[in-house]
Amino acid sequence: MQTIDTYDFSGKKALIRVDFNVPLNENFEITDDTRMRKALPTIQAVLAKGGSAIVMSHLGRPKGPEAKFSLKPLVNHLSELLGGVKVAIAPDCIGDETQALADALQPGEVLLLENLRFHGEEKKGDEDFAKQLANLGDCWVNDAFGTAHRAHASTAVMAKFFPNDKMFGTLVSSEVESLDKVVANPQRPFTAIMGGAKVSSKITIIENMLDKVDNLIIGGGMIFTFVKAMGGNIGSSLCEDDYLEMAKNIVEKAKEKGVNLIIASDCVAADKFANDANIETVAAGDIKEGWMGLDVGPDTIATFKEVIGNSATVLWNGPAGVFEMENFAAGTVAIGDAVVEATKKGAFSLVGGGDSVAAVNQFGISEGVSYISTAGGALLEYLEGKDLPGIAAVRS
Ligand code: AMP
Repeated sequence: MQTIDTYDFSGKKALIRVDFNVPLNENFEITDDTRMRKALPTIQAVLAKGGSAIVMSHLGRPKGPEAKFSLKPLVNHLSELLGGVKVAIAPDCIGDETQALADALQPGEVLLLENLRFHGEEKKGDEDFAKQLANLGDCWVNDAFGTAHRAHASTAVMAKFFPNDKMFGTLVSSEVESLDKVVANPQRPFTAIMGGAKVSSKITIIENMLDKVDNLIIGGGMIFTFVKAMGGNIGSSLCEDDYLEMAKNIVEKAKEKGVNLIIASDCVAADKFANDANIETVAAGDIKEGWMGLDVGPDTIATFKEVIGNSATVLWNGPAGVFEMENFAAGTVAIGDAVVEATKKGAFSLVGGGDSVAAVNQFGISEGVSYISTAGGALLEYLEGKDLPGIAAVRS
């Protein structure tokens, strides 16, 4: 398989699928350029190796060509980020004019294509559209992990036009490498910490993880579906009654597979969903009518810390409680600290999923974990054990 390092880009036009889906304010100013910055190493490598870059992305959810979803506001910033490299913008992502601009592109130059989703064919994975994109360049580089779970024209389908000239960009390859340290060949003991609001959104990952982990920690609002399933009183805590059977199954499966399943033994209960609520620490299955569990309690925290501290691989997805409110943040803070401690001792730690990444940033511990994945849906599907079209297309 080709990589950015092995491929000879000299004189070649590299079609690079990036994720430039950045937030813009009402004046079309970029309010967070993280995604653009993350794509720089790949673009820079192509240019440094004598190639030119045809950069393509989607932005937002246009229903056809809509000026407010144009990539034009990104051109100057991309040029600045690349240290003044000339960046031109094409009027479209396909068509005669775009083809002419691509044909005229010289080594060291960058052409940014207009929003791919101005054409409905992109999301449909239309082969003819993919071919028109492919005609613009000599090789295809997928550096958009965030859309790797979509079989779109630019993220997967166009791979077929570059059987020997396709590769991951540096962002996707580091993401895949890090995820595989967890999913494919984890050092043991391996602990997965699954938190967040709902069992329903995490159930497939939990089931997949049961085949891989030594310890499975359940945190967040999900706890209470498990506690209720096992006969506890959970008051008005978050609960998905449709998932009670599923929760019981997971407890059974964990036993069968010898997985140490850790569900909170105690919790911080509140009489309303507010930071100034009255609070008390109670057993997780002993919550009064009208009260709700909003964080894990001190006994649970102690167990979490011990288990995480003895782990060689840690995956953390989702907070232990309502960490956005100070009085219910202790469990999530403790997990963060324990993950950082384990990492210091040599564990590989991966934090992924919107809210745990937000927590890690909020608590200022992002430097202390091995890898942070911001990929959202693609990450979740990878953890669920699914083959991602954008990854498979490069590997096949
Ligand atoms: P998710 O997007 O599923 O990862 O859920 C994250 C959200 O779950 C965060 O906004 C937390 O505030 C919320 N959450 C965590 N624990 C609880 C809980 N015990 N009760 C209600 N919400 C919770």
